[in-house]
Amino acid sequence: MYEKRAPYQVHIETFGCQMNEYDTELVRALLKARGFTFTDDRERADVVLMNTCAIREHAHNKVYGHLADLKTLKRQRNLVVGVLGCMAQNLKQDLIDHESIVDVLVGPDSYRRLPDLIVQAIESQEKGPTRKGLAVDLSEYETYEDILPERAEGINAWIAVMRGCDNFCTFCVVPYTRGRERSRDPQGIVRETQHVASQGYKQVTLLGQNVNSYRYDGWDFSRLITAVAEVPGIERVRFTSPHPKDFPPSLLDAVAGHPKICKHIHLPLQAGNDRILQLMNRTYTRNEYLALVEKIRRRSSDITLTTDLICGFSTESEEEFLDTYEIVREVGYHAAFIFKYSERKHTIAARKYLDDVPDKIKADRVTRLVDLQKGTSLKKNRGMVGRTVQVLVEGDAKKSSAQWMGRSDGNITVVWEKGGSTVRPGDLVGVRITDASVTTLFGKELASR
Ligand code: SF4
Repeated sequence: MYEKRAPYQVHIETFGCQMNEYDTELVRALLKARGFTFTDDRERADVVLMNTCAIREHAHNKVYGHLADLKTLKRQRNLVVGVLGCMAQNLKQDLIDHESIVDVLVGPDSYRRLPDLIVQAIESQEKGPTRKGLAVDLSEYETYEDILPERAEGINAWIAVMRGCDNFCTFCVVPYTRGRERSRDPQGIVRETQHVASQGYKQVTLLGQNVNSYRYDGWDFSRLITAVAEVPGIERVRFTSPHPKDFPPSLLDAVAGHPKICKHIHLPLQAGNDRILQLMNRTYTRNEYLALVEKIRRRSSDITLTTDLICGFSTESEEEFLDTYEIVREVGYHAAFIFKYSERKHTIAARKYLDDVPDKIKADRVTRLVDLQKGTSLKKNRGMVGRTVQVLVEGDAKKSSAQWMGRSDGNITVVWEKGGSTVRPGDLVGVRITDASVTTLFGKELASR
């Protein structure tokens, strides 16, 4: 039995992408409005929620691992366990059938129903055996426009500008777990930016599964990001994750020309071979992608490019993998997120193609690409030595509180000794780069603004 009455304490664990981080902030706002409180300590919680990701195998396995741990806790005392997000949407039957400890399952379009379902689960546990609370309907309209997320402290505020995706890349579950694309009213987004600026956030990151396909009543993404960048108090604007098909000249102009829009484009390639790109339904060819890279670089050589890559997609041969290797070498990304292909349930690829590249070969391809990328990243970072970069201070460095950590405009981590520095998180400061590793620039602070 629950010995205490409300306010019940909720512990939320978040897995996966930035959109999930943002959704957790929405969920916190919805729960707070209903009187729930929050705890970082799972052992003290009345409700444990896991906001899950179905895209990467790693995040998926971690969730199952955490559910196994919670079994012991739930045997000892009453506890409501909820699975939210993409796994709840994609694997609901599996979770209902095999995870008896899960009381509440809520998909990304149904968070408004979560407080009621938790209350029901608590009440029914008090009375006896529980019935699972399920809310997994997809919506054509839900954008949570009216909810102000309960944001974590820091210098960056995430703002989702659109939800869902219509692209149906064959390896991806997002169109099934987050539904069709719909964009938010730009006026609401600008108001939210003004609000976060008034709270002291210095950077805004605009989020969407296919963020640059944003469309609303004659507004496109270039117009939106420019309007956001004009909000007083905001020093930097970033965006993620874009699709290479949605880069009109106006967006390149905005990135290259607006001083507050960061000179960083994450341009997911996924594969460098045309047959594999077609199997993935990425809708561009190798040459079209390279032409876009060329266009970006012609527009501004200051723009940092990063990418996502998948190794060992269905039927990928060694020669086809070498096409990816070659394009990665040719483009010279500043960083890349490189993954082994892992088949996700209910995707087009899972239904139509064989996951037939042996794991050992996938792992070997990942290693070769990672080695190549490490060399390029190190070379690019070393090329920054001697230059001065503007850094937005985020806080203490991970390894030492005697050092500051921040990011360059191009999204590269910069670390420097605090010494007698008077800067504070949120300040923009010039740092002269004196050394570099694969992932980090090291330097000396010149001046603060
Ligand atoms: S663009 Fe492709 S990979 Fe990205 S969310 Fe949409 S379907 Fe998934």
